[in-house]
Amino acid sequence: MAKIGINIATGSLQQQEMIVGIDLGTTNSLVAIIHPESKKPVVLKEFDGNALVPSVIHFGEAGTVTVGDEARQYLISEPHNTIFSAKRLMGKSYNDVRDHASYFTYKVIDDNTESLVKVQVGDRFYSPIELSSLILKELKKRAEHILKTQVTKAVITVPAYFNDAQRQATRDAGKLAGLDVLRIVNEPTAASLAYGLGMSKEETKTVAVYDLGGGTFDISILRITNGIFEVLSTNGDTYLGGDDFDHLLIRHLAEKFGYTASAIMSDKSLFSHLRQVAEKIKKELSEKDEFTGIWMEKVFKVSRKTFEDLIQPLVDKTIQCCKNALADAQLDISQIDEVIMVGGSTRTPFVKASVSKFFNKPVHDALNPDEVVALGAAVQADILAGNNKDFLLLDITPLSLGIETMGGLMDVLIPRNSKIPAKAGRQYTTQKDGQSGMRISVYQGERDLVRDNRKLAGFTLSGIPAMPAGLPKVEISFLVNADGILVVKAKELRSGIEQSVEVKPQYGLTDEQVEKMLLDSITHAKEDMHTRALVEAQTEAKILLDTTHQFIDKNRSFLSAGEREQTLGAMNLLQKLVDTGSKDEIQTAIEQLNEISRPYAERLMDHAISTAMKGKKV
Ligand code: ADP
Ligand code: MG
Repeated sequence: MAKIGINIATGSLQQQEMIVGIDLGTTNSLVAIIHPESKKPVVLKEFDGNALVPSVIHFGEAGTVTVGDEARQYLISEPHNTIFSAKRLMGKSYNDVRDHASYFTYKVIDDNTESLVKVQVGDRFYSPIELSSLILKELKKRAEHILKTQVTKAVITVPAYFNDAQRQATRDAGKLAGLDVLRIVNEPTAASLAYGLGMSKEETKTVAVYDLGGGTFDISILRITNGIFEVLSTNGDTYLGGDDFDHLLIRHLAEKFGYTASAIMSDKSLFSHLRQVAEKIKKELSEKDEFTGIWMEKVFKVSRKTFEDLIQPLVDKTIQCCKNALADAQLDISQIDEVIMVGGSTRTPFVKASVSKFFNKPVHDALNPDEVVALGAAVQADILAGNNKDFLLLDITPLSLGIETMGGLMDVLIPRNSKIPAKAGRQYTTQKDGQSGMRISVYQGERDLVRDNRKLAGFTLSGIPAMPAGLPKVEISFLVNADGILVVKAKELRSGIEQSVEVKPQYGLTDEQVEKMLLDSITHAKEDMHTRALVEAQTEAKILLDTTHQFIDKNRSFLSAGEREQTLGAMNLLQKLVDTGSKDEIQTAIEQLNEISRPYAERLMDHAISTAMKGKKV
């Protein structure tokens, strides 16, 4: 199958195009390519020499959106409309992030705790996918500016522990930014590739990748055999990173300068200033033994030793995670062949020394630790570009496979470009009380609405025992075997009834048709995303209206006349908007109804209803 490029601007097909590697980081993001002449991976730098784009988005009063260094300036002064760490929210429900709610200075919507989170800025609602796509768009724009050519294809990295939903969300963000995401690669795998590990066929190596970024710490143990990367174990702390080093320094400085903790917390500009100084100190202490600065016209010093004493407990914590990862992989320290340093915070010499001491060997640190993941992504992109000639139909699924969910949406179980054999499963539930059959429709394609995709098969799982809506658990599993045959199985887990169907996804599909479907998905990415968000909001609204209705009916005597009237008013408004309103209007009305019903819903939580509100409905 020939390789084909898609020019997003003109919608035309073109040959020969550069594939970029993107590190979409929690704190910083960047792009790398294989240099056309030197054939070595290089990061793309703006004229100011800066490759890192802070993963921060600022929404201005007048509807302006800025990403990067400029947006970062607003973190402290405009916390409600400056979004950082969107990556932490990818593929997450509110329940997943509840324990760290205070970490987010912006509004993370907390009703409907089981469905995917959204962020509210003013009267607009953003999914983490949309937020990440804004960062990717900025990276794409910069890359095009630097390379003076269209950039439409990318490899994007994700943490090794990202699950299917988080990987799919990352793919969607890429698509929404106008990028064809050829592969999602694990960050530690990319880091290994950047150091040339796994590039020769005969090599077998066990590698530890220590990644300490701005807000997260990951340790991954990989086994590389014949160019195949296997993640043996991962461990870490999703709320530990360089930012915590900064905070320790801020506290130290405050003490030194005679400010109370409450003074620095209440005075934004003081805090902001101290934070800048702390970061400067930290970075300088990576090069020098002592920092000398001036605060309020007085000279002050901070020694490297002081800093190391401050961060020692945090570094110890990361080492404990390394121990856990080794134990999970059932490996001894002596069995680790290589240790790779990743993440800006490993520039701190004490971190490097502690890791080297623990693993009892020198660590790989020749490449810039905050660039190494992007560099490796570029290496992977190049491999794909070179091997693309005829492998597409051989060992990967050329189009995504999924099923239809409520509102006619496509729910992808096996994303395109997955290695064959591939397996995936997900649980669904019923929509109506006593529903005995569930229709399962299998589709192939990249569009968000099934009507734009290709239908492969459909069958009904019948004989589901009578249960309230939301209670049955139907596990739908997809298996694409080595011959490319897709087996879809549906099983109701409580009763054990099951049914399955076999299809040949590629049957009757030419290469040109596959290409056209891919092209369509990118040219329609924006409107698709819009429709999906709208349908999701409508579905959420319908379920909420339904359950609230039942709730009011059943608990008539528990509500005061005032409560009832207020609720019906909010329901009427929502009902009207379901058919005519925009996604944001519907979302706002959902919020309002939830606000009203929450107090008495809590009072009268009914088990059947509470479960009916959970889970996806087919
Ligand atoms: P992420 O992977 O989370 O997006 P990075 O790998 O870019 O993040 O790491 C960002 C962190 O690295 C920040 O906390 C930053 O302060 C820290 N950092 C950057 N340069 C240095 C340095 N010279 N010394 C110590 N820490 C640094
Ligand atoms: Mg990183």
